[in-house]
Amino acid sequence: MPEINDRELVIVGGGPGGYAAAFCAADKGQKVTLIDAAERPGGTCLYVGCIPSKALLHTAKLIIDTRDAGAFGLHFEPPRIDLDGVRKHWQQVVGGLSQGLAGLCKRRNVEFLRGRRASFVDGQTLQLDDGSRYRFKNCILATGSVPARPQTLALDNPRVMDSTGALRLEELPASLLIVGGGYIGLELGYVYAALGSKVTVVEMTDALLPGVDRDLVEPLRQRLDGLFHKIHLQTMVQGLAETPQGIRATLKGEGIDEPEQVFDRVLVAVGRRPNTNELGLENTRVKVERGFVIVDERRRTTEEHIWAIGDVAGEPMLAHKASYEGKVAVEALLGEKVAYDPRAVPAVVFTDPEIAWCGLTETEAKRLNREVKVSRFPWLASGRAATLGRTEGLTKLLVDPKTDVVLGVGIVGTGAGELIGEGVLAVEMAASARDLALSMHPHPTLTETLMEAAELLHGGATHYVAPRRRERV
Ligand code: FAD
Ligand code: NAD
Repeated sequence: MPEINDRELVIVGGGPGGYAAAFCAADKGQKVTLIDAAERPGGTCLYVGCIPSKALLHTAKLIIDTRDAGAFGLHFEPPRIDLDGVRKHWQQVVGGLSQGLAGLCKRRNVEFLRGRRASFVDGQTLQLDDGSRYRFKNCILATGSVPARPQTLALDNPRVMDSTGALRLEELPASLLIVGGGYIGLELGYVYAALGSKVTVVEMTDALLPGVDRDLVEPLRQRLDGLFHKIHLQTMVQGLAETPQGIRATLKGEGIDEPEQVFDRVLVAVGRRPNTNELGLENTRVKVERGFVIVDERRRTTEEHIWAIGDVAGEPMLAHKASYEGKVAVEALLGEKVAYDPRAVPAVVFTDPEIAWCGLTETEAKRLNREVKVSRFPWLASGRAATLGRTEGLTKLLVDPKTDVVLGVGIVGTGAGELIGEGVLAVEMAASARDLALSMHPHPTLTETLMEAAELLHGGATHYVAPRRRERV
């Protein structure tokens, strides 16, 4: 029987959920042990997710911006792409942030058990893969998620990649098939297309980014039409096979004239699944549904001393939601009066234009049959957008028709991800559209589009006259 080490709070998984929880608990005086299979904290987000993809998206934006600079009287030669340099850039960014997180762990006296996988022996004990055991007063499970790979796409060949493989950028394929027109498909498709690959996207539903309001997706779709080789909607990949020329994909769907097509590489981006396998959960009372750990509003599982946060505890699978839940779980296990009950979880698709939204969406309002007033401010009327040459954007507000309270905000346009912060604050604080309209916004900035969208609901915006209902028909 191995010796048992007693610990106050053990956190399994050092991603943005786990490390945020660890730091919060340490700041509140808990003795914290953080366990991760990797060498340093950071998780999917830092090593194979948010950060590398956003560094690459910035590189891609530089390429496209210089390509489009002719409109500003600037003419650049096409870039000479040094793939090693591109890769090195994101790796340096990740390296710096990773060191920073390791330093933050040390400064807070968080015990970090590196390179170890943990599984439950019972509801209060974990065993690591080196055989050591840890008994805890409380444990937070933050093991994240991994890419999903359906059987039809399960060809074992390095040319068939998931997002982790695609971020490695081993080569620039002349042709790339992307299965899935969601976050990863569009973000990494944008990167590869900007670098020079001929990108084909296959999406099984009838729209890119299913579930996102159509008027927000449309300006992005128009831009991607010019950047991608083909976008096939309502199309499935029925199988993949290795050939001497590349990977042969069998496509089935509307408008597919050539069902068999060969690509240099394939990126499978059809969603992620929670990491609940091989955790020994069967030795505890923790319950799992569709792979996700079931938690209450305080993030407690069905086992008294075990809490769960982040991707493993349910959708949306976003880093900021994981960190937020981490703090809720820590405060809850310390007996503070707290619950996970945000009004506005922001989401951002970091293509260019970006799409960002928070709170109630129009799609959701329709589904709930909830009456809302919608105001749309097109960026054609924004002075700042004109100076940037990016007038394709749109800012919209959803407000309660009776109280004027802002229920949701949706933005598409360059930099929308930065702008949505104001929307989150407005929804969380139950600001009224009049509050937004009466708050002075700096000119000329894109933030004015939020103010003017609000003004439209209160007598009219300075720079835009909304088409009258009759004219709209
Ligand atoms: P993770 O970050 O997945 O961390 C889980 C950790 O647990 C890992 O380090 C793993 O090693 C460890 N672990 C797992 N099992 C064990 C075990 N048994 N023992 C010990 N350790 C274990 N989200 C955003 O909000 N914005 C973005 O821009 C964004 N971009 C993304 C881009 C890509 C390509 C991908 C793949 C994801 C992106 N996401 C983004 C999603 C984001 O990465 C996740 O939502 C986030 O990382 C979830 O955090 P987490 O702490 O729940 O889990
Ligand atoms: P996703 O759920 O965003 O998109 C998957 C897409 O694939 C969907 O549109 C779906 O309809 C389609 N699909 C599913 N099966 C298919 C099939 N067999 N053939 C064709 N299409 C199919 O998933 P993702 O893009 O893999 O990303 C996973 C998760 O990671 C996201 O949901 C998000 O939570 C997170 N993420 C977030 C960001 C961000 O915040 N900017 C970026 C990347 C990833």
